[in-house]
Amino acid sequence: MPKLPEVVRGAITDYRIVHRKHKTRAGRIKIYGKGGAIIEINPDMSYDLQIATLVHELLHACDEETGGGLKEREVDRISVAWVALYRRNGWKLPGQ
Ligand SMILES: [Zn+2]
Repeated sequence: MPKLPEVVRGAITDYRIVHRKHKTRAGRIKIYGKGGAIIEINPDMSYDLQIATLVHELLHACDEETGGGLKEREVDRISVAWVALYRRNGWKLPGQ
């Protein structure tokens, strides 16, 4: 299984990627002000679900870095389309 990156550099903030188990969540983002941020990804999922979750959380990050306002459903829809766009064009996803 490809490995997710350890750090993703956003436009403003660097996001450390951490594998952490959750009972109900695929992932989440924690932002610590100026100090940086962590994106937690549940390691019990397949790579496909982990990458979809990472893209989803990174879209939240992009939204936050540009003023915010996207609703959860919008983040869901755009992140699913983003992963499909990469796959259909044969582009590498993080860790591949
Ligand atoms: Zn979300």
